[in-house]
Amino acid sequence: MRDAEAPGRRVWIRDPLAILAQGAGGGLVVEGSRIVEIVGAGARPASPVDETFDASRHVVVPGLINTHHHAFQTLTRAHPLAINKPLFPWLKALYTVWGRITPEAFRLATRVAYTELLLSGCTTAGDHHYLFPEGLEDSVDVQVEEARSLGIRAAVTRGSMSLSDREGGLPPKTLTQDDDTILSDCERVLNLFHDPAPGAMVQIGLAPCSPFAVTERLMRESAELAARHGCRLHTHLGETLDEDGYCLSMFGCRPVDYLERVGWMTDRVWLAHGIHFNDAEVARLGKAGVGVCHCPTSNMTLASGRCRTCELEAAGSPVGLGVDGSASNDSSNLMEGVRHALMLSRLTYGAEAVTHLDALRWATQGSAACLGRSDIGRIAPGLEADLALFTLDELRFSGAHDPLAALVLCGATRADRVMVAGRWRVIDGEPLGVDTGRLREDHSRLAKALFGAG
Ligand SMILES: [Zn+2]
Repeated sequence: MRDAEAPGRRVWIRDPLAILAQGAGGGLVVEGSRIVEIVGAGARPASPVDETFDASRHVVVPGLINTHHHAFQTLTRAHPLAINKPLFPWLKALYTVWGRITPEAFRLATRVAYTELLLSGCTTAGDHHYLFPEGLEDSVDVQVEEARSLGIRAAVTRGSMSLSDREGGLPPKTLTQDDDTILSDCERVLNLFHDPAPGAMVQIGLAPCSPFAVTERLMRESAELAARHGCRLHTHLGETLDEDGYCLSMFGCRPVDYLERVGWMTDRVWLAHGIHFNDAEVARLGKAGVGVCHCPTSNMTLASGRCRTCELEAAGSPVGLGVDGSASNDSSNLMEGVRHALMLSRLTYGAEAVTHLDALRWATQGSAACLGRSDIGRIAPGLEADLALFTLDELRFSGAHDPLAALVLCGATRADRVMVAGRWRVIDGEPLGVDTGRLREDHSRLAKALFGAG
């Protein structure tokens, strides 16, 4: 649903210290939920404004867009059972703990993840939720409620696991649902919450967890359902070499061949991680317009490998960024992810091949393209007024020259102001309507209880 109450006031965000938009030295004008004018350096808006915000201390960038996360994992950050493990043993160690997450803990985990994202300058929170044990059947509903309450734009994907370890998959039976239950709940949440219109505050995607956690039928029927509803499709693919081995033994083909076999080689799809693709697979994915969400922090933590960001983009795939779940990151700070994307890609391609502007582009325009959205991700007239404003007042920026480069190279982690759909949602580094002290206390207590039970 769009924000019908957004005021129609004209606000001039004036004379920023720096801004990630062409010819916008004088700032921009927001009216209602949208950007209506770009103001040149030394110029004034074409029509009178109701309010002026002096941005002379601020570096202004389009609101960052997160395209992969698992909010529930904030309850198992730095968990002793899982640290220092690669993906498959890491997952097996955590499944049983995740199976004990209570509805109250899940709600607070979502609130924590969304709030962390917002504070890092993120205006669209993507979450891939695939955990629906008894008591958490309405998880998508909870995630939509929490996003609305915080005022952050949401891309919630209805995840799923239907192939348990008894049937050759990885997750335990207690964490899986049968295909029919999953498909009917997908249809329910699409009908209830998915808004396909420009300016949408909530969009729903369908997201079978991974080849090693769902049946082939669920992959096929999810794709058919997504086509009927005009929504996006998402899954984990190409994260580790273990997955290559699994696909070869279970399906007799590599992960990208499997993707094609189940009808997923379309521009409706974006993949999480997308690391272990050969040259021919990169070309095929690019030709089909399949997007890839690069999760640099998680990929380094689990030592999964390096995403071929530049080759994928050159081949035609949109490349966005994601924090990934908070048990493999273990934070939900997307600005930190921008810095890691720059560094990891430089290690792969060299110091001159990838710039701070590339990393910021992945987190904004690239992520928007992964979500199939052209109404967010840039600062331009007609686009949604989703903005992140950072000051360079901390000691870590002292002596910095290029303000936009400083954001990434000196390691900005916290926005001073964040606007979503024309409304301030963070002011002076604090989220509106959230008592972060109390949230941390309650969330930590429930996380500890979970650990105690393990
Ligand atoms: Zn993930």
